[in-house]
Order: sequence, then structure tokens, then C-alpha cells
Amino acid sequence: MSGSSGQIKGWCPGALRPMRSGDGLIVRVRLTGGDLIPDRAAALAEAARRFGNGLVDLTSRANLQMRGVSDDTLQPLLDRLAELSLLDASAAAEQVRNVIASPLAGLDPSAPIDIQPLIRALELRLIGNERFHFLPAKFGFLLDGGGVLPLDGVEADIALRAEVDGHFRLEAGGETLGWVRAEEALEAALGVAERFLALRQPDERRMRDLVGRIPLPSPQWGGSTRSGGVGWEAEDVGVPTPPRPLADPPPPGEGKDQSRLAGSHPAGFFTAAAPFGRLDAGQLEGLAAIAARHGATLRLTPWRSILLAPLAVDVTTQVSSLGLVVDPGDPRLAIAACPGSPSCLSGEAPAQADAARLAPVLAGFVERGASVHVSGCAKGCARRAPASITLVGQGGRYGIAFDADSKAPAETEPMSLGELMAFLTKRLTENSFKSSDHV
Ligand code: SF4
Repeated sequence: MSGSSGQIKGWCPGALRPMRSGDGLIVRVRLTGGDLIPDRAAALAEAARRFGNGLVDLTSRANLQMRGVSDDTLQPLLDRLAELSLLDASAAAEQVRNVIASPLAGLDPSAPIDIQPLIRALELRLIGNERFHFLPAKFGFLLDGGGVLPLDGVEADIALRAEVDGHFRLEAGGETLGWVRAEEALEAALGVAERFLALRQPDERRMRDLVGRIPLPSPQWGGSTRSGGVGWEAEDVGVPTPPRPLADPPPPGEGKDQSRLAGSHPAGFFTAAAPFGRLDAGQLEGLAAIAARHGATLRLTPWRSILLAPLAVDVTTQVSSLGLVVDPGDPRLAIAACPGSPSCLSGEAPAQADAARLAPVLAGFVERGASVHVSGCAKGCARRAPASITLVGQGGRYGIAFDADSKAPAETEPMSLGELMAFLTKRLTENSFKSSDHV
């Protein structure tokens, strides 16, 4: 563990490098492709209860983190993770294994490319080449196989998104760099990572920082697009000239299908969403039992939910009985909330608990198309993008900003929860909130 205090900021917690928080150590378990067979899920639930405080968070990188682990229970927990083959050989290997993949990888016959073999191959290359261990802590990759559950809107520093005819679109910092044949995709993505390491300034931690300073060349390149300086070169990143015209763009709205967020899907999977991404050991055990009963596996998604697939039956009633969200219209799915105090040492308000209390009144805004972010402090861990309504904790109260991120100045004086309820209710009653203004 790097620094026994575990209080270094700006890095991602792992199992071998846990982070200290208000309720103990956070131990993140990085799951290859988010895959979690039922036996392992049950074992992790038992470990969360035995070595932590029984609470489990789902992260936006499709990992799972146990909370409330103590200095005394850390080593027994690591031993258990090793028994489950869920512990990396080193903290560096764990950290560089930062890959988000389509949750239905290998299970979706409609996916243009089966990315399943690519997921572990990419991880092994990242682990095996120590040069990649110099990638910044939050630098991550994304493998999107397309199909019924595309990863539209999920960001990564380097992304491969499947298109037709066995080609991936290669993105760097969210921008298209080129197209690459599936069999060449791994080398191309790693080539871009090499290029990032070669070009980055010390303070550039994400690909978008580099792309902001050295713009990418046009995707329709035929070679170098920059002259006389260090920059992006087609040869350097190993991307071939686009082989053919792009496929038709996806129909409007694709990727925003709410059914991916919770509930049963006709393609034979079920998404169980945890309110604000948090569930307890009993709920995880319950999901493992349902999956085992129906011959399904569990996959964590970047939408902080757990998918069960393949499924030939509807498990809505079973999952609902666990207290998990099964309705894609549940307003809590449109509310992002970090743990806040006391779980987080920086928290100035109990964001997650207050978000649950505010959910009934916030539902009225969500129904009008609003997005909501309740943050325990201005850091805004739960949501980087602006939200229609952003509540930020300040000394036990909340300031409100509209169409803003958590760092924007509040438009109101800080309010208590009761004052906030009254304020929001009045806004709703007066009909003075228009979703077109605030979405
Ligand atoms: S936003 Fe602030 S309170 Fe919430 S988890 Fe991040 S640091 Fe903690």
C-alpha cells in the first residue's frame, strides 16, 4: 500500500492501494470486463460483510468497491481476494488495468465485433509492458462491441468502438482519430497510449489535456498532418488510412434507451440498478442467487448497475424484492449522488442520504426531463458534466446552481434540507421550472 494513510488525492483506489475514507478503507476490486460469476459475487458479498461494513459501491468504471475495511481486516481481505483470483501481482499492474468494456461482451449475437478476447489481451499487454505503468492513474481504455448495449456517452482516454465490417473507430480524448481493422485494433490502441506517453507534459493526466494542446489530425489523413514539430503522426499511432466510408450514423436517440438502465430487456438480459450506485452485501448475495438459479452471469456496467445475462425468464419480481431499482422510470436513476459525509472525509453534507430524502420532490423535476446532481462538496465526484439542478454541500447545508457543474458558484444562499424541500416544492408548484431551460 502506498502510504499507510491512503489519503493521497487524485488517484484511483485499488485493492493493493486502498484509499482511506470517513468510514474506513475503500478497497476497489477491478473486474475484467466487469464479469462476476455468481459464486464470486456471493464470495465478495460475504467478504464485504466480514472484512468491511457490508456496503458495496458500483463505480462508473464497472468496478466494485468495498467500504469500511479496517487496518486489521485489510490483509485478510486481500488474502480472500487472492483465493478468488481477484488480486493483481502488484499495485502497478492493478492500476494500469483500467479498461471499460461492453457489459454484454461475448453474450450479444448482434454485436458487430465480439470484443471478449480483446479485453483480457489488452489488460495483459498493459500489465506486461512496464512503460504503460507510467500512464496516469485515471487514464483508461474503452472497448465497445456495439450491439444492443452500446457504450455511447461513456468516456475514456482511448476508445475502440465497433462499427460495421469488422472495423473499430479509434478515439483519443473523445475525438475520432481513425478507423482500424479488428485484428489491428490492439496494436493501434496501444500505439496511441505510447504516443500519449511520448507527447504529454507532466501536468497532462488525461488524453483530452494532450488533445487540447496538440489537436488530432483529420481522420481522413494520408500521413503526417503536422509539419516541422512533434505531434500526431499516422505512422506513429499505427492507424491505417480509413478503409472505406463510414457506416451510417446511428439513429437519433440510440444509446439513450432508458431500458438499459434498469429492468428487463427483450434481448435477454436484466439490469438491476442500485440507488446511487450503492448496495449492501445482502443485495449482492441475492443477485448472485438469482443469477445462479437461472444460469446467468453477472456483469457490472459503467452505469453503476449490475446486469444479469443471459436470461430466458423475467426476474423483475425477484430483483425488486431485494430493494433494487427495476423501473427505468425511477427518478433515482436521474439523480447522481456521491457518498458525502460521513463516509467521505471531504464531505460537507450527507449527499447520498439527502438525495434519497429529496427523491420524491426531485422526481417532479426528473419527470420534466431534468438531471440532478447532489454533491457532498464542490469536487463533484459523482458527476463531472453539468446537471439541470446541482446541489452542493456547504457546512451541512446546500447551495443550488442550475445548468451547472458542482464547481460553479451557487445561485442561492446555503439551505438546510427542510428549506431546500420547501424551495424545490415551491418551484414545482409555481411551475417555474422548464425542462427546456435546465436539461
Ligand atoms: S464530491 Fe466531495 S464529498 Fe462527494 S465523494 Fe467527492 S470528495 Fe467526497
